[in-house]
Amino acid sequence: MSKQTEQEPAAENPEELLNLKLTNPKEWAAGIPAVAVAMVDIIKETGMVRGVEGLFKMNQKGGFDCSGCAWPDPDDDRSPIAEYCENGAKALAEEATTKKLTGEFFAENPVAELAKLNDYEIGKKGRIAQPLYLAKGATHYTPVSWDFAFKKIADELNALASPDEAAFYTSGRTSNEASFMYQLFVREFGTNNMPDCSNMCHESTSVGLADAIGIGKGTVTLNDFYDTDVIIIMGQNPGTNHPRMLSALEKAKQKGSKIIAVNPLHEAGLMGFKNPQTVKGILGIKTQLADLYLQVRINGDMALLKAMEKLLYKAELENPGSVFDHDFIKKNTTGYVAFLASLEQYEVDDLAKAAGLTVNEIEQAVDLIKNESRIIICWAMGVTQHKNGVATVKEIVNLAMLKGAIGKPGAGLCPVRGHSNVQGNRTMIIWDKPKPQQLDKLKEVFGFEPPRGHGYDVVESIKAMDEGKLKVFFAMGGNFLSATPDTLFTAQAMRKLKLSVHVSTKLNRSHLVHGEEALILPTLSRSDKDVLNGEDQFISCENSMGVIQMSKGMLKPVSEHLMNENQIVCNLAKATLGSRSVIDWDKYAKSYDAVRDVIAKVIPGFEDYNQKVRLPGGFYLPNAAREGKFITEKNGSVVPFNIAPLPKHELAAGEYHMTTIRSHDQFNTTIYGLNDRYRGIHNERRVILMNENDMKKAGFKAEEKVDLFNYDDGVERAARLFVVVPYNIPEGNTATYYPEANVLVPINSVAEQSNTPTSKLVNIKIRKHLA
Ligand code: SF4
Repeated sequence: MSKQTEQEPAAENPEELLNLKLTNPKEWAAGIPAVAVAMVDIIKETGMVRGVEGLFKMNQKGGFDCSGCAWPDPDDDRSPIAEYCENGAKALAEEATTKKLTGEFFAENPVAELAKLNDYEIGKKGRIAQPLYLAKGATHYTPVSWDFAFKKIADELNALASPDEAAFYTSGRTSNEASFMYQLFVREFGTNNMPDCSNMCHESTSVGLADAIGIGKGTVTLNDFYDTDVIIIMGQNPGTNHPRMLSALEKAKQKGSKIIAVNPLHEAGLMGFKNPQTVKGILGIKTQLADLYLQVRINGDMALLKAMEKLLYKAELENPGSVFDHDFIKKNTTGYVAFLASLEQYEVDDLAKAAGLTVNEIEQAVDLIKNESRIIICWAMGVTQHKNGVATVKEIVNLAMLKGAIGKPGAGLCPVRGHSNVQGNRTMIIWDKPKPQQLDKLKEVFGFEPPRGHGYDVVESIKAMDEGKLKVFFAMGGNFLSATPDTLFTAQAMRKLKLSVHVSTKLNRSHLVHGEEALILPTLSRSDKDVLNGEDQFISCENSMGVIQMSKGMLKPVSEHLMNENQIVCNLAKATLGSRSVIDWDKYAKSYDAVRDVIAKVIPGFEDYNQKVRLPGGFYLPNAAREGKFITEKNGSVVPFNIAPLPKHELAAGEYHMTTIRSHDQFNTTIYGLNDRYRGIHNERRVILMNENDMKKAGFKAEEKVDLFNYDDGVERAARLFVVVPYNIPEGNTATYYPEANVLVPINSVAEQSNTPTSKLVNIKIRKHLA
């Protein structure tokens, strides 16, 4: 048994804990406390005037897109006062902060000391105000000019034995325009090594849906929520991760829709909502959201779906033609008979047990949907980050097809993306596995031969760093080290790079665990004013429902040394490719309209981009599945029912399943604060949520200090000094916060087909902490 070194990053091994406080978990989300918390953050970070100016423009037509999640804005009327949630306001407070990090800060703070801070402390330092360079063997970042930075990167890239020795990562925030030019540069440079944050979240959705229905995106619009009978929400916590979804759910409820929530934890935002924009909400009166709450065990979704399908089939046999949509099935699907036959191997009792539910609970769910056909099924990473993530996505499609609930108003599939424009990045061909047709089009429009072989995704990139196959890592946004699994392994892999480069707005952990040399390139945030040729500019983004909309920042940037992402890409491309490039990078650096004009030539659905993006509210991308037409690669115009086995969940003696979750004071790797108000956890993030029966059996008291271990692949992975919090979670299941527990997620534990790390299910052992 080998042990991972615990030397780095230092923050993974704190010597003491904070002062944890526990209160009762909440049964509703938002309300006045949400407004108050958001305003405190805004005032503290930005000052009242700057903050309020930003909030009034956030998510408004002609304003800027929240850099938080990818939940859509209403097509028509938007609130003139507040078209954002608590977490949107916190995202603004983070990026619009007036704290800035200049050369003096970096002269005073050695990298090794900064690396001892946790992600929350690092993030609160402020905005990066100028390009920074860490020389080989140096202890401090020092300010450099943009010319120096571009030349340094270009020299390193051009010195590689092959373009495949570099990888170019993208995080969701990057605009359509910058994403397109970025992939263009990377492909002209000669590689498809384009890992992106999507590899770690909804890749199972993209793979599963593309395979099944011909498009790796959802099929509903926001308006479908207002005209539906039942909404099923699986493996998703909208109260924290997509808070404005609660307004849509409230409206759906007012119009008579029922909601079924499926989650191992009783999340406040799935139970009730106090809408702070209504008199009722201000008075503290909540709208009950879930009509039925199914507290599945971790990854019990597949068993639940199969049990529902089996019970629906039984009801259909009892009353033929009343439950299944035979017209839809006949017209659009294949494999119906074999699929139903495959369910015969299961007993409902066994499926219920595997799901962690009673048969009666599943029957209640079936009663809610059996006579309805307008059903929306939403999901997020509780479904996708499992070994069987792709199969579960396809099982969701199976259920929707039995009910004919795809491709008509008020019905459909709704994967909810967690990061603004993560969907747009992929539309712009930020992808390690581009389709031949996409590459053909690049060749036709630009006249160079793009590389054809598949590149590295996130997990493959980390392994390639470890094996010495990658020498240069360029990250367009994000906090790679904190977002990725197996933290110590990844940190050691990143240390082997020759050069690591991050385009960033704020300081983060990935700047502090670096290659031999490192650069930080400071860029504009969404809310920053972007001026080119004396004119205010806008970029554009795609939300979770395929709407492309302009985003125009308006706040004064904290420094005159910031550069927008598109210009960074174009200048880097020019410096790297020089006269061997066939692309006029200067033209695209100076004009987003010029960028949009070429996007219109390459990407289907973007015809007349410059006109359509200027329409108030933007425009919808084409989505054949939404119209009830299926154009699949393997099966033509029919969708096959997928037959997948039940996942096996075996635990050795003393083992538990661990899922990683986010706190309410967090957005992905950005930690806004140390509280998780809805779950009643305050002032500490190193907690493990446990069922009280499990605690008794293991002899743990509440607030006992413990160490957590994973032993996959014969390696001991340790996360030390956590506190046990008794919580309403199924027996055998535990939950910890990401990124603190990422250290336990094995690099080799990935979803079949999508290669997504299984951050929602890791086998762990828990032992009392040894001081
Ligand atoms: S719901 Fe998402 S996009 Fe909307 S304001 Fe909140 S964090 Fe931002």
